[in-house]
Amino acid sequence: MKIKRLRTIYILYWFLLTYILAALVFWFIALNRQNEELSTCRMEIIDANDKNRDAGVRKIKIEKSRKTTQYIGEGATFFLLIIAGAVYVFRIINRQLYQSQQQQNFMMAITHELKTPIAVTKLNLETLQKRDLSKEQQQRLISTTIQEAERLNSLCNNLLLTSQIEAGGYKIVKEKTDLSEVVEEGVHDFKIRYPLRKIETDIQEETFIEGDRMMIKLAINNLLDNAIKYSNKQDIVLLKIYQENEFIKLLAIDEGPGIPDDDKTKIFDKYFRGRSMQTKGTGLGLYITKRIVEAHSGKINVLDNKPGGSIFEITFSK
Ligand code: ADP
Repeated sequence: MKIKRLRTIYILYWFLLTYILAALVFWFIALNRQNEELSTCRMEIIDANDKNRDAGVRKIKIEKSRKTTQYIGEGATFFLLIIAGAVYVFRIINRQLYQSQQQQNFMMAITHELKTPIAVTKLNLETLQKRDLSKEQQQRLISTTIQEAERLNSLCNNLLLTSQIEAGGYKIVKEKTDLSEVVEEGVHDFKIRYPLRKIETDIQEETFIEGDRMMIKLAINNLLDNAIKYSNKQDIVLLKIYQENEFIKLLAIDEGPGIPDDDKTKIFDKYFRGRSMQTKGTGLGLYITKRIVEAHSGKINVLDNKPGGSIFEITFSK
């Protein structure tokens, strides 16, 4: 509905802009013609036998060219003001349209993301209840159910934190936190969730920061989740932590498709989803991760991995 309204505003905007510019051109042509006619009339009035005729003609010509310059100056000023205003309004409408589209995609994604784990869990539990399955089959069903529950849990955490942050209601708790320990914990959870995936670590021990353990865990979860989601089964996901001068760096490295340069500035926007809309997701993960990192006075960057994949680099001060 909002998109439809914005589209109407868009059409109206182009119509008005064309009308204003056309009116400006007509105004300029009409004034110039009037100027021309006025000078011709004044020339005709001057007596042909008048001694001062030449001086009079020169004066009329000067007056005429002064008026033309004045109209050009005024016209150009109006033109520039109209264009500046038009560009400003255009950018606002475009941003609104972009945000509405992202929001609409998000609403579709979230419906899907909430319903799938519930449906899968229900089906798995029903199968376990009704069928006489082997131990191995039971284990497989239980582990997919746990995976779905974990996914639902991360999604709820991201959603809740987003709304709390936006309402200004979340106060981060700053306590001495061992980043290495939090990452080890996160990797451990993911190894249980994805036993067939290659998740490696290169972690310097005891890297302490002042931070909110729960939030940092959520940020690491989001990076790990993406690294696994966007790369292939045989690709390695590497989590690295090291100290560099007064900074602590946390790197999440994958061998997936990488992120196109055009998307690098957009991936941290709320609801933004890249080219792979087929993958599960809501476009909230990196947005919330960035907010968490910034709440800890840190920075997050995305770099290209060689020969392929991406590197998410978080820098905290000690
Ligand atoms: P979601 O994964 O739910 O779509 P995110 O905010 O976590 O949302 O990520 C935003 C977008 O950034 C993703 O849709 C994807 O296109 C891109 N992206 C994030 N992480 C990676 C990654 N490790 N490799 C490739 N693309 C990624």
